[in-house]
Amino acid sequence: SQYMEAKHCLAFPFARTAIYYTLKSKSFPEGSEIIMPPISIKGILDVIISLKLKPVFVDIDHDTLCFNLNELRKSITTNTKAILITYLYGIVPDMEELINICLNNKLFIVEDFSHNLNATFKGKKLGTFGNVGVYSSSSLKTFDTFGGGLLITNDLKLFKVLQNCKMNLKKPP
Ligand SMILES: *Cc1c(COP(=O)(O)O)cnc(C)c1O
Repeated sequence: SQYMEAKHCLAFPFARTAIYYTLKSKSFPEGSEIIMPPISIKGILDVIISLKLKPVFVDIDHDTLCFNLNELRKSITTNTKAILITYLYGIVPDMEELINICLNNKLFIVEDFSHNLNATFKGKKLGTFGNVGVYSSSSLKTFDTFGGGLLITNDLKLFKVLQNCKMNLKKPP
């Protein structure tokens, strides 16, 4: 948390586990729309579907490889509850406009900064713009612990809920 300049940090077995418990703890109604990028891994999609949420894919911009902002605006409905911002290949998008769109629509923001560890926008680290930042430290990542997901947040209440979820995970055999 010190390195990421966030108040709290929790380690999970995978990044997808961190995302799973984060979204679960929000108790969004069944069928709530979660915006995600079309480039992701099946594990993240499985998380959204297993929570009975509806994935909504928003196409990416060719320059930033993050959401095309016009497409993003068009995709938000009254049923959209959260957004999974996924940075790709170390490229930093225009965070100001992106975050403004999310905040204006009261979206819960999860940032997956697995590809962008230590990337900044105007001096602020990616992963600290939303409600929760998630980093996968699985094999082949910049910081590789051969399996692991790190979650950062400044939200103490959410942190305590997630800490409890983590404590109740079964130990590996
Ligand atoms: C590797 C990676 C993941 C997968 O994380 P797990 O720890 O395997 O759940 C998720 N998102 C991005 C962007 C990744 O690069």
